[in-house]
Amino acid sequence: MINVTKTHTPNQKKYIKYVDKIFKSAWLTNNGTYLKELEQRLKEYLGVKNIILVSNGSMALHVAYNALKLKKEVITTPFSFVATTSTLVWDKLTPIFCDIDKKSLTLDPKKLKKLINKNTSAIVATHVYGNSCDITKIDKICKEHNLKLIYDASHCFGVKYKHQSILNYGDISTISFHATKLFHTIEGGAIITNDDKIANKIRHSINFGLDGQEIEVVGTNAKMNEFQAAMGLCMLDEMEYINSSREKIWNFYKQNLSKNILFPKWNKNCSLNFAYFPIILSSEAITLKVINSLSKHDIYPRRYFYPSLNKLKYIKTEQECLISEDISSRVLCLPIYPDLSLEDVRKIIKIINSIV
Ligand SMILES: *Cc1c(COP(=O)(O)O)cnc(C)c1O
Repeated sequence: MINVTKTHTPNQKKYIKYVDKIFKSAWLTNNGTYLKELEQRLKEYLGVKNIILVSNGSMALHVAYNALKLKKEVITTPFSFVATTSTLVWDKLTPIFCDIDKKSLTLDPKKLKKLINKNTSAIVATHVYGNSCDITKIDKICKEHNLKLIYDASHCFGVKYKHQSILNYGDISTISFHATKLFHTIEGGAIITNDDKIANKIRHSINFGLDGQEIEVVGTNAKMNEFQAAMGLCMLDEMEYINSSREKIWNFYKQNLSKNILFPKWNKNCSLNFAYFPIILSSEAITLKVINSLSKHDIYPRRYFYPSLNKLKYIKTEQECLISEDISSRVLCLPIYPDLSLEDVRKIIKIINSIV
């Protein structure tokens, strides 16, 4: 069976060594040795100023909304993983959907202005598949209207925008380290910000609001534990293999898939991390046909992202996002993970090309 992704499990012996040490110290969580080591290594690897590790990518979003005091309406993208919207709804914020650009599949800044009103507190935009939003334009609009800006950069491990980490943009960027992501800590995530004050507040708010002896802010529990951090340390040692095999597969798809297939248009300032291989087919009927043919060979691509988030059952207001709805109906992410063989990729390409 070939799924859209398969979790990369790093060297087991190395992980067990970490586990032995965790058992010996009996320090399992709460700012442990491995958490601190992983934070330091990620800071250097990614090139960011403040990174706060948390229990998962959804908690990273919740904590970011809290830290920036989001309220009432938040403008967001309908073309993302459901967590981008569900975290807003869970926090009693109202998502207002701004349709995406047809080529880049990221939030279209041209459509932003007419959605801003006195209740708007922030924009939450996703760098979809690791492809950057139109950062310059979105930044400018946020400054003009005094809005907070959060980037859901869950797909962006290692991505550079204008020669620095893409995670350095916006008031806050969040990332997910879930097992299905390029880099993972089993479950996990992080919050990145250039603002030391906000970073400091976040460090307290993920630990019940505890600041030494005092309780300064309303907090929650979003801490990453030592077993998660140890997994991250083992993964970091293998990034060269992970990145190079993903790149090989990505290029093989790109060179050999039929020219009738479209890809998202990559922002020219943005590097590729080869986390996903999305294809856009000509119609939903063709898309379903491709899924059906691949499944007969035990190959399972994913309709990622589907449905368009403005169509979620719990979104009550009627908000149309025609481009996002159209793309969602005919986009597929093809299998890509380090251990996928080029033989298998060849097989996938052959099946798809015979249909399109
Ligand atoms: C994976 C993902 C999340 C959620 O992260 P978890 O670590 O699974 O909670 C949020 N947003 C996007 C865009 C994602 O892909």
